[in-house]
Amino acid sequence: MQHFFSVPVGLLYSRSYFPEDSRQAVISLVEDVRVAFINILADAPWMDEETRKKAISKAEHIIAHVGYPSELYQNVTFEEFYKDLEMDPDNFFNNSMQFNLFINTHYLNELRKPVNRAGWQELLTLDPTEANAFYDPSSNTMQFPIAILHELFFSKDRPQYINYASLGNTVGHEITHGFDDNGRKYDLYGNLVNWWNVDTKRKFSDQTECFIDQYSEYTDPKTNLTVDGDNTLNENLADNGGTRAAYHAYLNWLKRNGDERLVPGVKYNQKQLFWISYAQAESSVDGRDHIAYLIENDSHSPNELRVLGVVSNLQEFANDFNCPVGSKMNPEKKCRVW
Ligand SMILES: [Zn+2]
Repeated sequence: MQHFFSVPVGLLYSRSYFPEDSRQAVISLVEDVRVAFINILADAPWMDEETRKKAISKAEHIIAHVGYPSELYQNVTFEEFYKDLEMDPDNFFNNSMQFNLFINTHYLNELRKPVNRAGWQELLTLDPTEANAFYDPSSNTMQFPIAILHELFFSKDRPQYINYASLGNTVGHEITHGFDDNGRKYDLYGNLVNWWNVDTKRKFSDQTECFIDQYSEYTDPKTNLTVDGDNTLNENLADNGGTRAAYHAYLNWLKRNGDERLVPGVKYNQKQLFWISYAQAESSVDGRDHIAYLIENDSHSPNELRVLGVVSNLQEFANDFNCPVGSKMNPEKKCRVW
């Protein structure tokens, strides 16, 4: 029901509370993370050149909807789209029926027509109030609803290490979903096409085994339940590749802009603050039963283990905090695909 007019209502909100300069700042952050991810693809030593080229092209073709597709900010009106839909202020049930009829007729009429991946009509059921982000493998697009472009995740007027560590990490996570064990099966337009060299595909699978083993070793301290490394594989791949991309995007930002000012009285440098901000953005307080439910049912690892799993795989983290080789956060064996 909340989806009745989610795009027009969300757009009104967006136009009032998400100024265009903020939107442009998010768009450039997305592009920075995309470039960092493409560099990861360019450097992956286990890929053959043909598959690498296709992977890079796929990453370049991901369409990112920041808030809404750009066309909606250029004064598109909804009159034409909704002209056949009749609403009655006194009949909620009938409105619901009318709306379902309208929307299903719309989708039926789209059958066999070319898909406009960049179009706002692809987002008709997107809930603008959900602080989440999505990657859709069958269109090779990412959606960042308005609700995740605020507060904890992004503000254009604060240190960039926070923005890259929180929203940047989310962007990297969604990009990496295009290259997890499900997303990798789709091509740059979202078609289910095998573009992988057989040998490279085998190496990909071999390296994912490392993640399955790593996360299967984790036991949540509150519930004593063990993480299912198979079930959480794709989210773990997205976390690991995404954070690496976000961190390198931030390093590139530093190269272009120079060091940011530090927080007075805080002894950490910019890179350390990136990691601390990342862990903070991923933090939550969950009850025992909720964690137990998540471990049994959710495709993500519990939040605390998401962070520990990622940073213990990233040499960059160990370097920034001088973790001795062989310590918990700098194990000799690290898992890596992206
Ligand atoms: Zn995910």
